[in-house]
Order: sequence, then structure tokens, then C-alpha cells
Amino acid sequence: MTVQLEKLTGDGLIRKANEIRKSIVHVSVKNGAGHIAPSLSCVDILVALYYNIMTISDNPLWEDRDRLIFSKAHGCYGVYAILADLGYIDQQDWLSFYQGSSLMGCIEHNAPHGIEASCGSLGHGLPIATGIAFGAKLQNKRYQTYCIIGDGELQEGSNWEAIQFAVKHKLSNMTLIIDNNRLQAMDFLENVLTPEGKIDDIEKKMAAFGCVVKSCEGHDVMNIVDNLKSWINKKEQLSAPQVLIARTIKGYGLKCMENIPKFHFRVPTDDEMKQGNRYE
Ligand SMILES: [Mg+2]
Repeated sequence: MTVQLEKLTGDGLIRKANEIRKSIVHVSVKNGAGHIAPSLSCVDILVALYYNIMTISDNPLWEDRDRLIFSKAHGCYGVYAILADLGYIDQQDWLSFYQGSSLMGCIEHNAPHGIEASCGSLGHGLPIATGIAFGAKLQNKRYQTYCIIGDGELQEGSNWEAIQFAVKHKLSNMTLIIDNNRLQAMDFLENVLTPEGKIDDIEKKMAAFGCVVKSCEGHDVMNIVDNLKSWINKKEQLSAPQVLIARTIKGYGLKCMENIPKFHFRVPTDDEMKQGNRYE
């Protein structure tokens, strides 16, 4: 027998997001794990999904569960903190991350732990999510497939092939959430492949491909929930994949780290930590 997990709302979600931020910083600074900033930028997205939006149960293998593919795989510390909080993985495995734990630096498929797919070679998560959503449609399954990807990751052509397929096959049972922190690894998007002045063109590109698109504040967890819920509430009328562009800040929560490219893979010093945080 499976028991669906209790959903959080309002202040409960905000408290949970702060709890997860605190856990990420505590474990990664103590254990020397460096991908803190990309993990912090998507905490509110993950909390909205796991604690309110997704239909999940105490059994990570429950057939009718909503699926989450976490494509920006190195920024996975929040996923681990949440899976430990839900009881899908042992707390000790999370607390010993980078220090003998079975959890990998980039997320790796482990169905009994609630991890649906290995990612890390960027641009692969969305094609996997698309395949899962297509399979669900063919089998008349009711679950929704969610996929979180980074904005830098959108440079990979595999994403656009997947989007064409998803639109062509009317995969309204798939929702893509973009962690739009405007940074990729050690630089700003505009210094890499995004043309100058076109930083906001993701919305236009996704709409041009035929997706249903919205943007929101990526650190307002209730706003993320409200946007995703508006699609769930009209699920039967949708005939295309949905894309939510969440405007985020890389490193959000640790003041020394926010929007600073050098912190892509770097543990803050004691002095940097003294600049304070937003979760306590
Ligand atoms: Mg990014």
C-alpha cells in the first residue's frame, strides 16, 4: 500500500526551502563539496515540486508517481537533501556526501532512491523526460513528467530536438522548468553564446517551437507553485508541453556567493561565510 505524501503550502513551503538551503550549505561546506551555487539556485523550484506539486508517495517506485528528471545534474545537492528529508535515502548517506557516501557528485539513476535518471552530460535530461512522457501517453498513464534544466544547458542541440518531438506529439504531460540564473559554469550567458541584449529570448524561442510558456520569480516558492498549479488545473485543455522560466540567482541564500561566477565550484572560506545568509 502506498501513502501519498502530505503537501505543504504558504509559510510551510518557505520554511522548508530555508531548511533545505541550510542543509545544503551545512553538508557541502563541512564535506568540501563544491557545486553549492548551482544547487542553491534551484532550491525553491525543487521544494515547490516535491512538497506541493508532484503526486508522490512514501514508495519511490510507485507506478503512478509523477516523474522528475534533474538535468542540471551537478547542482543536485538540493535533490539529495530533499530525498533524505522524505526518507527515500538515508540521512547518513546525505550527511556523508563527498566523504564515503554512495551519492554521486552528478546525479545517478537509482530508482529505489527516487532518482529517475543519470544526467551530467548536459542536454540529456530533457530528451529522457520527453521519452518518458511519450511512453506515458502511449500507455494512457496519468502521471506528469517534470524536467529541471539549466539555462546554459539550452545551448545543447539535443534539447531542441526533444522540444520539436514533444510539441509534434502534443506531450502536454511534460513540464519543463528552466533555472534561469543567467550564468553557466564560470561565466555569464551573454559572454558565451547568448547574443548581447538577448538574455530574455528563452521565452520567445520556446513559444516559437510551440510550447506553452510562462516566466516567474524563481525564489518565490508560492509563485512557482501557483504557476505550475494553473497548468495542472487545466490539464485536459492543454495540447503542448509547458515551460516555466524561473528567474533565479546562482548561489541564492549565501550572500558571498550570489551571482558571482567564481563560485560555480568552490567552497566558501570562513571569512566569506561571515557575510551571512538568507535562510536563518
Ligand atoms: Mg545557469
